[in-house]
Amino acid sequence: MDKTIAFFVPTFIYLVIFALNALLPGRWVTGYVTKVNSSEKMRYHLNGILIFFVMVMLWLLLGCYHIISCDWLYQYRWYELAGAFIFGIMVSLVVVLPYPRIRNSFWSDFYLGRIENLQLLGGRIDAKMWLYLAGAILLELNVLSFAAHHWILYGIHASPGIYLTTILVTYFLIDYLTFEEVHLYTYDLFAERVGFKLAWGCLVFYPYFYAISLWSTVDLPNPHTTTWLFGIYALIFFLGWSLSRGANLQKYFFKKDPEKSFLGIVPKTITDGNRTLLVNGFWGISRHVNYLGEILMGTGIILCTGYPMLIWPWLYPLYYVALLFPRQKDDDVRCELKYGTLWNEYKQKVPYRIIPYIY
Ligand code: NDP
Repeated sequence: MDKTIAFFVPTFIYLVIFALNALLPGRWVTGYVTKVNSSEKMRYHLNGILIFFVMVMLWLLLGCYHIISCDWLYQYRWYELAGAFIFGIMVSLVVVLPYPRIRNSFWSDFYLGRIENLQLLGGRIDAKMWLYLAGAILLELNVLSFAAHHWILYGIHASPGIYLTTILVTYFLIDYLTFEEVHLYTYDLFAERVGFKLAWGCLVFYPYFYAISLWSTVDLPNPHTTTWLFGIYALIFFLGWSLSRGANLQKYFFKKDPEKSFLGIVPKTITDGNRTLLVNGFWGISRHVNYLGEILMGTGIILCTGYPMLIWPWLYPLYYVALLFPRQKDDDVRCELKYGTLWNEYKQKVPYRIIPYIY
């Protein structure tokens, strides 16, 4: 019986998040994406951080009142993953099939999506933002349950590294939701369509694969990592966070107000009279230093588990390399088309793609 329930749990959680996203109060903000066949910018109803805390509180209450075991999501993770897998495919079909084809191949349309943006209930739900929110919250509930499993298994002999990993993943998610508005200025929002890649990616891959560092280590004993090593691992994480968050925020403020300084950095730009690009601060270090930051954060997270010789946790930062290196190339092509010779000028001024002085 529990296995059947577990199969439907991700669907249930996603539907609750959908309802909360629509019903709870939120901020209405103007985004970066322009509506199709219009010069008007899209509007978004953002309340992700509130829903995050509501869902975590509900999970804690269920655990405290022994309605479910705190590590329930860990115990039944394979059944939940199977349920999320099917739900992810169903949602992908729902967001693709009703819309007109845009490519010759159905499978390309299914994978990459047809419609650019999909909003429901008068804009209270934006499909892309809901997908990211749903994945982030289930990921958080998973990591909390995985950490609880470690505690149940080892008690006072538990590994502090497991808790540090849990704290860093939680920080990563809270940070994302705190700056939810900044996400409106990213590639997924302005350059991608709503299809399997996004829907299945957010509903299945995100909450389960991003938990791989804990999934693969919570049933292992304390490796007794030296305290100063934890300091170095946390430093790697926060260095990555500074690069990623710094670059994203600098660009966000620049797009909103090109004159505005960020952290005391006065924007230096190049322009063709029509369009403008930032060439200093984080955007002067490399053309995508935020991607380097993401990879460093992933590395810091998995090292904290204390099992650097285990292959599974490494899949997490390696996945970022596989995702972001090709994405940088795609973005370069897109920007070359959009900015023309100005982009070449930027490339001359900032020659490194991702890693300063190396790549
Ligand atoms: P960017 O935020 O780097 O956005 C690229 C776009 O920014 C370009 O297409 C261009 O768009 C604009 N741009 C590029 N260079 C400049 C410049 N010098 N001055 C002004 N504008 C510029 O990339 P993403 O949207 O891919 O990533 C956003 C964040 O999300 C990153 O931190 C990334 O690491 C993170 N991310 C996280 C993932 C995760 O799973 N955790 C997955 C993927 C990304 P335009 O000019 O048209 O505005």
